[in-house]
Amino acid sequence: MPDTTGDIAASHKIPALCGNIIGGETYTQGDQIPVICPETEEVVTHAVEADDETLDLAIRTAQETFEQGEWSKASSDHRQKVLFRIADLIEKHQEELAWLETLNIGAPIRQSETRHVTRAVLNFRFFAEYCSQTSGDAYYQQPDYLTVVTREPVGVAALIGPWNAPIALTTMKIAGAIAFGNSCVVKPSEFSPLTAFRVTQLLLEAGLPEGVVNLVNGRGGSTGAALSSHDGIDRLSFTGGTATGRAIMSAAGKNLVPVTLELGGKSANIIFDDADYEQALDGSLLGIFSNNGQQCLAGSRILVQRSIFDRFVADFVSRTNNLRMGSSFDRRTEIGPLATKSHFNRVLSFADLAREEGCEILTGGRAADGYSSGYFFEPTVAVTPRNDLRICQEEIFGPFATIQVFDTPEDAWRIANESDFGLVSYVWTSSLETATTAHKAIKAGMVLINTPIVRELRAPFGGFKDSGVGSESGASCEAFYTEQKTTVIPMAKPTLPKLGSEA
Ligand code: NAD
Repeated sequence: MPDTTGDIAASHKIPALCGNIIGGETYTQGDQIPVICPETEEVVTHAVEADDETLDLAIRTAQETFEQGEWSKASSDHRQKVLFRIADLIEKHQEELAWLETLNIGAPIRQSETRHVTRAVLNFRFFAEYCSQTSGDAYYQQPDYLTVVTREPVGVAALIGPWNAPIALTTMKIAGAIAFGNSCVVKPSEFSPLTAFRVTQLLLEAGLPEGVVNLVNGRGGSTGAALSSHDGIDRLSFTGGTATGRAIMSAAGKNLVPVTLELGGKSANIIFDDADYEQALDGSLLGIFSNNGQQCLAGSRILVQRSIFDRFVADFVSRTNNLRMGSSFDRRTEIGPLATKSHFNRVLSFADLAREEGCEILTGGRAADGYSSGYFFEPTVAVTPRNDLRICQEEIFGPFATIQVFDTPEDAWRIANESDFGLVSYVWTSSLETATTAHKAIKAGMVLINTPIVRELRAPFGGFKDSGVGSESGASCEAFYTEQKTTVIPMAKPTLPKLGSEA
């Protein structure tokens, strides 16, 4: 049994119950959803599902808070101060939040600390700075008129998040929405409610007025569906799977509610023979095995140029076999358990599919030995003969790399683009020409040359094709969470035709 009760665990508490936090009050009535630690398979607490009445209350509270104006009409200086305080408080609770995240989703603790919680802090600091720099426009082209364009917060944003990086992704949505004065109703995944619950408490502690951020828990098909189709919301921001994204867009569309959808991926990771070999190898391993392979931007389709194919595959498999799998509470662990049992079974089913499709599984493809509990799946590498196989087309969302060979740059671009997804793409080359061609040829929202993921919050992050609608960044969030208003003021009394004045 992996040890989850080390030095870190000893000092922190699991919430006795993750209730719904509405207007600063915690509501604990409702069906209870078990929260399961993927490492011990134990129920560690429960989340309370928000029924229709509770959801209505959350949305009404968000609306009333918005109308009342303490936050929506506050100066950006004030909002900035509160956002900075939130960031500081999250940073102060970094260890606790990282531990809760690891307990809930199984991410290795070092990654929870240095990536997930660090990103949550950054999200609030970034939007604190951004919101103080916003400006409007003025037009003078009509000589007698001054036309000014200002931005106003929209009202209530519904924010629905996934389970794979809950604190990092949910806080991006919260910070982006509230920085511009909106209120919101947040629904974390039913599988990962722990950090959203704790962060909502910290928001209140930092001085965010009650009712600006309201938390509802619940399953996707019930609370999630009711939230997306509710006529009291003004914006909907969603991160999750593509099929869910379609359902959500269609539900929100009935009320003409604009959406942003951050969806799935099956990103190409292309290695040319002129690349810095060690960097490409390190980056490719990080690209597929970080966060236990459960990341939308995983470089899960590895394409390797023929002259280095055999060497790369051998080295990649050898390093995969060396990955330190174990308890996610151990700081040395590089791979922990998958987040849920159903997800484990789904990832496992792709190993069978790979075999059926004629792929060669060079390592992994099965439950890891030696664990009496936990959803531990062996890091897997499969060589695939063709790109049109399901194994290369469907998002597996686990520590499961597929590797294919290519010959020319044109082959690489074609294979990269033969996908319904278009989230990100990685290219490893020392040729400037190849790099600049990749930037033009690849149909994805982000092309990373000679680097694993680097998230620059000023730049848009969003997918092409089935990977998403819209994007998230400072400017994208400002555009999404505000309405533009044009006001026209004559600078001299205009001469108006006098309708109806002639007999
Ligand atoms: P999911 O689509 O199953 O669930 C996401 C959220 O939607 C959860 O809160 C869930 O309760 C809710 N939901 C489910 N059905 C719903 C419905 N009918 N109406 C309203 N809400 C509903 O996704 P997941 O399994 O939690 O997350 C994994 C997926 O998220 C992967 O496909 C991954 O690629 C994607 N993802 C994308 C990004 C990105 O930035 N593009 C980032 C992380 C994860």
